[in-house]
Amino acid sequence: MTTGQTVRLPSVDRILGDAACLALIANYGRVQTLASARAVLAELRTAMLAGAVCEEGASITAIAAHMGERLQAQSRSQLRAVFNLTGTVLHTNLGRALLPDAAVQAVVEALQWPMNLEFDLETGKRGDRDDLVEELLRELTGAEAATIVNNNAAAVLLMLNTLAQNKEVVVSRGELVEIGGAFRIPDVMTRAGAVLREVGSTNRTHLADYANGVNEDTALLMKVHCSNYAITGFTKSVELDELVPLASKHGVPTAVDLGSGTLVDLAQYGLPHETTVRETIEAGADLVTFSGDKLLGGPQCGVIVGRADLIAKIKRNPLKRALRVGKLTLAALAPVLQLYRAPDLLAERLTTLRLLTRPAAAMRGQAQTLLPLLQGALGMQYVVTAEAMQSQIGSGALPVDQLPSFGLAIRSASGSRLSNPLGVLEQRLRALPCPVIGRIGQDTLWLDLRCLEAAHETAFIAQLGELSA
Ligand SMILES: *Cc1c(COP(=O)(O)O)cnc(C)c1O
Repeated sequence: MTTGQTVRLPSVDRILGDAACLALIANYGRVQTLASARAVLAELRTAMLAGAVCEEGASITAIAAHMGERLQAQSRSQLRAVFNLTGTVLHTNLGRALLPDAAVQAVVEALQWPMNLEFDLETGKRGDRDDLVEELLRELTGAEAATIVNNNAAAVLLMLNTLAQNKEVVVSRGELVEIGGAFRIPDVMTRAGAVLREVGSTNRTHLADYANGVNEDTALLMKVHCSNYAITGFTKSVELDELVPLASKHGVPTAVDLGSGTLVDLAQYGLPHETTVRETIEAGADLVTFSGDKLLGGPQCGVIVGRADLIAKIKRNPLKRALRVGKLTLAALAPVLQLYRAPDLLAERLTTLRLLTRPAAAMRGQAQTLLPLLQGALGMQYVVTAEAMQSQIGSGALPVDQLPSFGLAIRSASGSRLSNPLGVLEQRLRALPCPVIGRIGQDTLWLDLRCLEAAHETAFIAQLGELSA
C-alpha cells in the first residue's frame, strides 16, 4: 500500500476508452457515463487528500466498477415493487388492488398500439371513451348509464359540482367521513361549490331530520358510506329506501357515495356482506359513486352510475374533461368488469378476491416452510414463530371485519443488545432488493402471508440471504 500522495489517477479519456466503460456507454449513453466518471474521480481526489486511496483503488478497473454501481443506482425507478405483508389486502399506500392477468395483457397492448379510445369503429366517427365500459357497467349494476373519472374523490367532486353548485346538499352528521389522504366530505363539498346542510347528530339521524333539512335551495340528498369507522351503541341512521320517497316528494335526486362499491354479494365467497352497487340502485339511488381499485379489484378510477339524464349532465360539465381517465385505465377496467360475468370463477380469477378468500390453512403451510429459512437468515438476535393473525380488507371496506390469517411473528431474543431491535429489523427488510413491508405491534414484527401468493414465494426466499449479510 502506498500513500495518497504517490497514487496517480487515470485521465477521463483513458477511463472512457477502457472496455468496461465502453460497455457502460453502450448501456447508459456517453453523457451519463462521462458524468459518472467525473463524479467518481472527484470522490477519489477527496479520499486521496485523506490518504485513503491505494494504487488498486485508483485503477481503471476499480473506477469503472464504481461508475457501473452509480449508474445502476441512478437508473433505478423510484417506484418499486414490494412484498405487502402488512395484512391489509387493499393497502392505499402500497397501491391498492393488484390486477388480474387479463388486465395486464390489455394494458400492455394499449401501451404499444393505437386504440379506438374515442373512435367508433362501426361509423368511423368520433366516439366517447365511456362507451368502452358503459354497457358492462349497466349490465353489472342495473343502472341506466355510467361514466368514469380519475378516482372516487373525483367522482364525488364532479357529481356535487354538476348537481349542486350554489345549492344545498343534505347529509347526516354521522356520515361526514374523512378518508385518509385528505378526502373529507365537508371539504369536497366546499370545493365543488355546494353548501353542506348537516342534519341529525353523530350517532343518531332520523328521517324527520332529513325532512327538516330540505328547503327550496336543496339540490340533493346524499348518503356516504362509513368506510373507515363504525358507530356503535345508541345509534340510528336512515336507510336509503326510507330516504328515496322523501327526495321524490321534493323533486330532488338521491346520491350515494359507496366508497369501495362491490359488484357482487361477497357473502357467497364466505366474506362479510357489503351492500352492492346493484342493491343501491334498486333501493332507488339516482346516482352511485365508487372506486375502481378497492373491492372491485381494478385500476385506480372512480365510477359514477345512475339515471341517464343525470349522467349526461355530469358528462357535459367541463370538469369532466379535467378528471377523465386515460386509455390504460380503460384498457385495464374492461377485462376486470368482464370477469364479473362469471361470478362462479371470480374468486379464482380476480386477484383481490383470490387474496381475500385465501384460507388460513394455505398461509399456515407457507409459514411452516418459511419459518426455518427466515430464522436462519436473522440469526440469534431474533425469535421467529408461525402464528395466527388477522388480515384486513383495507381501503375502507368493512373496517371492523377481520379475516383469519397466518404468518410469521418476529420478536427480539431475550438479552438482545440492540436498542430498538424491531425498528432495526423493519429497516433491514425495507432495504432488501424487493422491500418487505410488515407491521409492528405488541413488541412483535408481524409478517402476514395472505398476500404472498405461491408465484412470488421463490423470489421472497431468494433474497432472504441478503438479510444475514
Ligand atoms: C375511498 C373512498 C373515497 C375516495 O375514493 P378514491 O378512489 O380513493 O378517490 C370516497 N368516499 C368514500 C366513502 C371512500 O370510502
